[in-house]
Amino acid sequence: MSATILSGIDARTARIPLLVEQIKKLSRTPTLAIIQVGDRSDSTAYIRAKKTFAQKIGVHINHIHFPVDVSQDKVVRTIGECNTTDGIAGIIVQLPLPEHIDRTVVIEAIAPEKDVDGLTQTNYRKLLNGEASAILPATARGVRELCTHYLIPLKGKKVAVVGRSLLVGTPIAILCKQSGADVIVCHSKTVDLAHETSKADVVIVAVGKPNLITAEHVKVGAIVIDVGISKLDDGTIHGDVDYPAVREVASAITPVPGGVGPMTVLGLFENVVDASVRQVST
Ligand code: NAP
Repeated sequence: MSATILSGIDARTARIPLLVEQIKKLSRTPTLAIIQVGDRSDSTAYIRAKKTFAQKIGVHINHIHFPVDVSQDKVVRTIGECNTTDGIAGIIVQLPLPEHIDRTVVIEAIAPEKDVDGLTQTNYRKLLNGEASAILPATARGVRELCTHYLIPLKGKKVAVVGRSLLVGTPIAILCKQSGADVIVCHSKTVDLAHETSKADVVIVAVGKPNLITAEHVKVGAIVIDVGISKLDDGTIHGDVDYPAVREVASAITPVPGGVGPMTVLGLFENVVDASVRQVST
C-alpha cells in the first residue's frame, strides 16, 4: 500500500478564497501583533511564514521585535498596549522565550479575546468545556481542519495522540474527543508505545523525536498525522514519523514539511479573522 499524501499546502490553499472573502467583509483590515524576543533562527523563520501568509490573505502584521535581554515588564507593558489598541485583532508571542521571562506571566497578559494562539487559561478552560467562544490553539485547529478537508471522520474512531503538552498534544486530544473519537494519549512514560498506537485508526504524533514512529507502530490502513518538527544537523527538517516506511503501511499520511505546519498557520489566521468578527460585532 502506498498512502495518500495529506498535503497541508493544498488543504490550506483551498481555504484561502473563503478567508479573503471574510476579511473583505470586515469593516477594517485586521492586524495581528507578533511579539518576538531575541533572534532564534527557527522563530524568525516561523514569523516569516506567518507574514507571507498574512500578505496573501490581506491581514496586517505588526511585528514587535525586542532584543533578547528585554525585561519581562517591558514585554508585558507592550502586550497591555496591544490589548487596548482597536485595530489589533490578535496578539501572539513567538515561543520559546528566553529563560529570564516567565512564559505564563507573558501569555496571561494577553486579553483572552485577542489570544489568537489560544494559550491563555481563559481560552483553555473554554476549550475544555467545549464552549463555542473558545479560541482554539492554532495547531489543534489546523489538525482538525486537515481532517475536515480530507474527509477523515473521527467520530467513533480509535485515535492515538502521542505527546501530551499543554500547547500541542493535549488540545489535539481534546478536539478529537469532542469530535466523537475514542482517544488514547501516549507520552514519554507509556510502557509499550507500539502496542498502543498499532490499535489506532488514526495516529497523531506531536513529540519532536525523528523516526519515533516506525511501521511497527502503525496498523495497516491507519491514517498518520505528523505534527513533529526537528531540524537535523544537516539542516533538513523531519517529523516524528519514519515517513518512507510508514507510508507503505498507512492509508494516508502527512509529509514534513508541508503537512501540519501550513495548517497551523491557517489555524492562526482563522483565529485572527474570528476574533476580528467578534470584536467588530461587540
Ligand atoms: P513538548 O512540550 O516537548 O512535548 C513533547 C511531548 O512528547 C511530551 O508530552 C512528552 O511526554 C512526549 N514524549 C517525549 N518523548 C516521548 C517518547 N519517547 N514517546 C512518547 N512520547 C514522548 O513539545 P511540543 O511543544 O508539544 O511539540 C511537539 C512537536 O511538535 C515538536 O517537534 C514541535 O516542534 C512540533 N510542533 C509542530 C507544529 C506544527 O505546526 N507542525 C506546531 C507546534 C509544535 P511527557 O509529557 O511524558 O514528557
